[in-house]
Amino acid sequence: MTNEERKKLFEGLLAKKNSGDLKTKDRLAIPPQEMPEQDATTRRRNVSEVALGYTEEQARLEALRCLQCKNAPCIEGCPVRIHIRDFVGAIAEGDYRKALEIIKENSLLPAVCGRVCPQEVQCQEKCTVGLSLKDVSKAVSIGRLERFVADWDGSRGEGVPPLRDAGILPAYRGQGALDTEAQGQDALATVPAVAARTGMKVAIIGSGPGGIVAGADTRRAGHEVTVFEAFHKPGGVMVYGIPEFRLPKAIVQQEIETLKRMDVKIVTNFIVGRTRTIEQLMREDGFDAVYIGVGAGLPSFMGVEGESLVGVYSANEYLTRANLMKAYQFGSGADTPIARSKRVAVVGGGNVAMDSARTAVRLGAEKVYLIYRRTEKEMPARVEEVHHAQQEGVEFHLLQNPKRILGDANGNVVAIECLRYELGEPDASGRRRPVAIPGSEFQIEVDTVIVAIGNLANPLIRQTTPGLEFNQWGNIIVDENCRTSMEGVFAGGDIVLGAATVILAMGQGRIAAAAMNEYLARKRQSREG
Ligand code: FAD
Repeated sequence: MTNEERKKLFEGLLAKKNSGDLKTKDRLAIPPQEMPEQDATTRRRNVSEVALGYTEEQARLEALRCLQCKNAPCIEGCPVRIHIRDFVGAIAEGDYRKALEIIKENSLLPAVCGRVCPQEVQCQEKCTVGLSLKDVSKAVSIGRLERFVADWDGSRGEGVPPLRDAGILPAYRGQGALDTEAQGQDALATVPAVAARTGMKVAIIGSGPGGIVAGADTRRAGHEVTVFEAFHKPGGVMVYGIPEFRLPKAIVQQEIETLKRMDVKIVTNFIVGRTRTIEQLMREDGFDAVYIGVGAGLPSFMGVEGESLVGVYSANEYLTRANLMKAYQFGSGADTPIARSKRVAVVGGGNVAMDSARTAVRLGAEKVYLIYRRTEKEMPARVEEVHHAQQEGVEFHLLQNPKRILGDANGNVVAIECLRYELGEPDASGRRRPVAIPGSEFQIEVDTVIVAIGNLANPLIRQTTPGLEFNQWGNIIVDENCRTSMEGVFAGGDIVLGAATVILAMGQGRIAAAAMNEYLARKRQSREG
């Protein structure tokens, strides 16, 4: 559909809507709007965002597809219960400010969530349009609409993603991501109002989405908030894990700048458990409450022969070197210690595996193989990410799994030996169990292996915080208000849930902050007598 045709269709539908004649069948007949994206050949050689965002006409047409159901089942599918029907309705009306306000009632990071939330298994899975058309991929594209209004806000409210004007990119999209962080600093951000100082001090440990939200919400209540971050840059997985081509770092930077403008102190290169313990922060440094949002940063390995050879990375390490240490700028400004790989095997089938494989493509690998022991159907990665990886030339080796990694005399990886698999009975997760076929070994010549089979909780906080209760997987145990077993200590996000999602971490940050504000109000009252 050309822009002209789209415009004509939209105007006709709008006229019908304004005269009260727009029927359900008209809405269902509107074609789902595809998001424009960078061509696969071009994007293999840059780290700029792949998905380009809706034009204004596309967004309003897509919003008109929404049936405005009385019971709004989509809301039930949203972990933070955004009033989806209403914000989509506001987009259809062209009132983007209102749409953004509605989203922000429940979600502080719409530009992030609009990009990375797995909407197809959350809000969009429940959408009546998708159900009526018997295809979840034809549900109203709620995530893309959320992104649209967030980008409209990011472009300073002066217009919609300027794609409309023939390929001009949104405000924070730079040339190959090299300067997007600086642009994020410049972007205008609305600074939330902050209450008068309470004299109470809050420590937030970890600057991921949960920490950002918990920090903002406790600061709003007037507390003095300090975020302690182990890395040299704040943002958590949104900065060191999820690549620029899926989530421009300027967006995260903008949220960090908002925190700073609210007078939240951010201390980097500070490892709680090493630099200071939680007990020291509370007893000696005067923090009245602590939020632990340290994520799940401990990579799992396969436990096969050869995993300690040179050229084997955990996905965490590989992505951190690529994203946080800017491997994509190697030789032109960054001095990132990362090998130049020619043939890369990535093991795993989740988003982290897709991100690693697609990053390897962009770093110049000639061949990137994705090795997964089940079939594409069982892959936990988002369908969109799988599709993008395939378009970019990642070769999928399904129903295969490494048996060992082979090295040369110098200890460098030279090949990976795999076994072929078939699917057996469903396991506890409901997915069919992969069963190895004896004698099916074969080798693939590679110089790099990236292991992306999951992350666990880092044990540091556990080892250094007596009195804090953990479950058998090393995750912190909390109640429904994110209170831990220690007074004044709250926790949320991946360190509680296990490796989960941005929106769930954000949701827990918000719940924890509400409980912390209540706790601190009581503490202050009893302190002041
Ligand atoms: P995190 O984002 O994990 O951040 C924790 C922070 O704490 C880190 O910055 C860490 O350096 C810091 N820290 C750790 N220990 C200490 C310490 N002792 N002292 C001080 N600081 C410390 N989710 C989605 O919803 N959609 C996606 O598409 C998606 N893709 C992903 C891709 C990758 C590669 C990865 C790894 C994860 C992805 N996720 C995705 C998951 C999502 O990013 C996480 O669920 C989410 O970021 C967890 O948030 P969090 O607040 O718990 O902390």
